[in-house]
Parts: sequence; structure tokens; C-alpha cells
Amino acid sequence: NRSITTMTEKEFRLDPDCELRFEVESKKDTVDLKLMNGKAEVFGTELAPDKPYTFYPGAKVAVFTWHGCTLKLIGNTEGTYTAKETPMVMYLNTHACLERLRKQADVGYGRGEDTRGPATMVVGPGDVGKSTLCRILLNYAVRMGRRPIFVDLDVGQGSISIPGTIGALLVERAAAVGEGFSQEAPLVYNFGHLTPAANLTLYNILVSRMAATIQDKMVANRKVASSGIVINTCGWVKDEGYKSLTHVAQAFEVDVIIVLDQERLYNELVRDIPFIKVVFLPKSGGVVERTQAMRVLGRDDRIREYYYGLHTKYHPHSFEVKMTHLQIYKIGAPALPDSCMPADMKVDDHMTKLVPIEPGVKLKHHMLAVSLATEPEDLLTSNVAGFICVLDVDEELKMMKVLSPQPKPLPKTIFILTDIQFMDSS
Ligand code: ADP
Repeated sequence: NRSITTMTEKEFRLDPDCELRFEVESKKDTVDLKLMNGKAEVFGTELAPDKPYTFYPGAKVAVFTWHGCTLKLIGNTEGTYTAKETPMVMYLNTHACLERLRKQADVGYGRGEDTRGPATMVVGPGDVGKSTLCRILLNYAVRMGRRPIFVDLDVGQGSISIPGTIGALLVERAAAVGEGFSQEAPLVYNFGHLTPAANLTLYNILVSRMAATIQDKMVANRKVASSGIVINTCGWVKDEGYKSLTHVAQAFEVDVIIVLDQERLYNELVRDIPFIKVVFLPKSGGVVERTQAMRVLGRDDRIREYYYGLHTKYHPHSFEVKMTHLQIYKIGAPALPDSCMPADMKVDDHMTKLVPIEPGVKLKHHMLAVSLATEPEDLLTSNVAGFICVLDVDEELKMMKVLSPQPKPLPKTIFILTDIQFMDSS
């Protein structure tokens, strides 16, 4: 007695410079998009004609056309409309400026100079389309034959690895339309919290570390070096958050800062870092604001995707391990009152202190980073191989059940406890 659902199919004819915006209802169903006629792109990735592109629940999409097109949507969408006003021409001009800087880098290199393409940093408050603009700029760059590096420093809503990390990817192909950039061999550092505010000292250390690693990569690869870097940042732009943005700019020796939507932030940056080019760009009217609940769901989805893949194409492993097998640390100890502090200890030393953790029920549902460090001293700045999730803890039997992308046994490395939690309902 199967219920029959009717598939809604609808065609849209778009004039040049317009975009079709829609959201996939947050249920189970997906939506297919087809380009019937003309040319169109989704956040900078060109659509092939007649090919169905699948979008997953929760997706918020814009299909833009420079020259006009006809599109078909198959499935249930929400808030579907065509917009005539978009900032795409400004985004394209920004891309053209970056491309000029890349050409200059090529020319400089021809003259034997040690030049690098532009490092561009996108900043602004939450939900202004920072990630989307990064994606557009990166896609346009690859479409010109460039191989830029994408750095995502947004530990709350980032798109590389799981929440609580900062990551970098070499972008060799345009992002897959419904899925984003391919995540083969990303460089990932574990931060372990959802906002830099939780441990700004550690955050800044990791940012510097990532910048240095990428710098090395660029020295070794001319093509990547002249293509430059696009950096996505957190939406925390006030007070300490602002300071951490200036730290990012310094660490990556950023050439261009794009400020989305907030003029105050733009003016502050122009005032404080006069030697870097700061550009103001408006946000797109299509950017959808996320509620707190949507952010939480989005983070869960990222972790689920990490283990299971988008179409459940991966099969993670769950198995029991002896607690004694795991060497676990946490980074950062509770602050000591000043009067208790040894005279030679700096105020923020405790933020980078390694604290051994006794495995127990308190670890249940927590994500643990599998560090590539073999010695605790290297733990702070080593990148990570992956993450396991503690599914269950049996204190009596001294056993823990974990979810792991790899089959057992767990590698003999050090694990870092994170604040990030995940309940596997799959
Ligand atoms: P931020 O990085 O500033 O938090 P995002 O780039 O993640 O913002 O954008 C927020 C949401 O809005 C995303 O789901 C994105 O897909 C959606 N979005 C961005 N631009 C558009 C647009 N022009 N039309 C429809 N949705 C959009």
C-alpha cells in the first residue's frame, strides 16, 4: 500500500543577468535541476545541458545566467523566485582584478622574481554569503585554468572536514553543483571548538601554522603559487574577533580583503591596515539567514557527511576498543587566578597546555581528533588524519565503542578530545 507522491516539475525562463533562487524543503526529498536551454551556473560552476543535478534537503541555491536560459526544477522547492538584482557583475569584476594580480605574478616569475598570486580574504558577519563568494571566486579561477588554494577558517560553519577544524584544499576542479569542492586530501587542523572565542590563543597558533604550511606548498609549486589563496573566515567580527581577523591577514600576508555587507568593518580595516587593499561588496539579496537550529542541523550534517558521504557512499566502522588503548589529551586548561600563577608563566600559557584525559562516560558523543603527532609535544600544531566519535562507554568493562571512517584497529597515535558532539542516528 505505497503512497504515491507526485513529482512537481516546473520550467523557468530567465533573462540575462537574472538568477533563480530556491530552497530544498528540509525533509527527505531531493530536487533535480536541469538546464534546458542557454547557459547557467550555480555559484560559479557551469551547468551542462540536459543533465540532472541533485540538491539535498536544506540546500539554498541560486542559478545565475549571464545570457539567459531555461531551467527545469523537478521536486518540491520552497521560496522559489527569479531575481533581477544580483551583485554578480561586481563579483565578476572582483574576479577580474584577482586574475590581473595572478598575471602579474606570472610575469614577475618570468623575470626571476619570487612572486605569488593574490591571497584574498573574505570577511563579514554571519550569513552574508562569505562561503558562497569564496566558492564563486575559486570556481572562476579554476575555469581560467588556475589552481588556487581554498582555506576555510570558519570553525562553526566551515565547509572542509568537520566543525571545529580549520582546513585547506587545493582546488583543481570547479565545485560539484549540489555538493561543493572535492575533498581529496585536505589539510586539516583540529581546533576543537565552535567559535575562535573558546581559545583564541590556540586559534591564532593554528592559523599561523596553516599559513606557514601553505607557504611551503607554494614555494614547491609555481602554478599554485601564482593562482593564490582564497580564505573564508568566521562571522565573528567584533572586538577579539576583529583582532583575530587582522591576525589572519598578517599570517597569510593577505593582499586583498573583501568585506561583505558591513561598512563599519570595512572602515575599521581601511583605517587599521592601510597597506592592504580593502574592498567593500554588497551581499546578495538571496543569501538566506540561518536560525540557531539550522546551524546546529548544518553542523550535524557535516559530521554525518564526513562518515557516510552525501549519498551514503561511505560505510564507517563501529567497534569496541579498550580504554587503555587510547591516549587522550585535551588542549587548554582552566585559567588559574593571577595570584596562583608561577612567576614565569604567561597569562595565556594555560590555553595551550596539554591535559591528559582519563577515558570515561563524559566522553560519550564527543568527537576525538586522530592526531598525526606521535609525541605529545607536537600535538598542538600537528594536522589530523581524521576523527572518531565516541558512541558508548562502559566504565565497568573499561571499553569504549567508537565510530571510525577506517576499520579497526585504531592507529597507535594520540587522540585529542574536542567540544564537538555528534549523535549518530544512522
Ligand atoms: P556565510 O558564509 O556568510 O555564513 P553563506 O555563503 O554560507 O554565508 O550563505 C548562506 C546561505 O545562503 C547558504 O545556504 C547559501 O547556499 C545561500 N545563498 C548564498 N547566496 C545565495 C543566493 N544568491 N541565492 C540563494 N541562496 C543563496
